Amino acid sequence: MVKSDKKSTKRGRNDPCHCGSGKKYKDCHLPTEQVARTEQLRLRQAQDSLLPRIIEAAQGVAELLPAAFERFWQGKYAFERMQEPANAQGTDRSLTWEDRGAERFLTWFAFDVRQPDGHTLVEHLVTTEAFTTDPYERSLLTAWQPVRLRPYLVEALKKGQGVTLRDLLSSELRQVADYGASKRLALGEVVVGHLVPADTAPGAEAPTYYLAGAAAQLTDDTAAKLLEYAELHLADMRRRMPAATWADLIDERSELLNHFVTALPTEARDPGLIERIVNEGRIALQLTAESVAALLGRPAPEPTAANPELPAPDQPTAVGEEDPSDARLAD
Ligand SMILES: [Zn+2]
Repeated sequence: MVKSDKKSTKRGRNDPCHCGSGKKYKDCHLPTEQVARTEQLRLRQAQDSLLPRIIEAAQGVAELLPAAFERFWQGKYAFERMQEPANAQGTDRSLTWEDRGAERFLTWFAFDVRQPDGHTLVEHLVTTEAFTTDPYERSLLTAWQPVRLRPYLVEALKKGQGVTLRDLLSSELRQVADYGASKRLALGEVVVGHLVPADTAPGAEAPTYYLAGAAAQLTDDTAAKLLEYAELHLADMRRRMPAATWADLIDERSELLNHFVTALPTEARDPGLIERIVNEGRIALQLTAESVAALLGRPAPEPTAANPELPAPDQPTAVGEEDPSDARLAD
């Protein structure tokens, strides 16, 4: 069970400052902390205004969209679906346009797709004069240039406050201040999305992150298989680029994460299907378990033993009441 730490650190203006200077808080650290909080608020506002404008700019390079759309959805949807309203409610969810599919695609297009000159749309916008930004939007846009689609594991939750996400590839931890996400997500679930640095809270060493645009939310039985699927593609990449890293893989083909997402069932858990996605990926890439192990620099798997896997708990550690069959997440 996750506990929200409710120990209130509220102090009065006339109380001694927390730094131990002996001065009153209002005469010591209060003013600088107020400035930091205002900065934080402005950055949050900038984030809200910036992302829709990036999405809009993506629609402005219309000639590049169809090929990128095909890359992202692998022919699962026709490009005409882009015109449909998001979240059209059908009787059979599996036949409807995936939750905010257009927004998920456009976010990926803006952050991940290299245009013919080698730059992404976000990189372009930094130097596009017509794309006017205030100083807060500008600092965010600059910091967002290296952001790509990545898979994250929900490591800890503070309901109504935020989420700690672990990058499934790099194992780095990210603090995500997203009230909505903290209510929707459960421990062990996987989020495939764009985690953008936003503000740095007063006193914090690392920036706070937000999920930009629409992300996909996967059930807690998918983390190990998603990693295995990504490892297949890394192994494939190492056949021609032996020193390839996760960053190289994501930089070249982050759409593979969406391919994994779209292959998953939306109605009910199906471990057999998840296994099949990995096996079919192995066949498509013409890789054996032995060649994957060799390319990833691991000992070859025992022929009799099952492949080593990350622990994949069958049950969520039970925080929240979300329907586990609701495998897609908006926002
Ligand atoms: Zn002080």
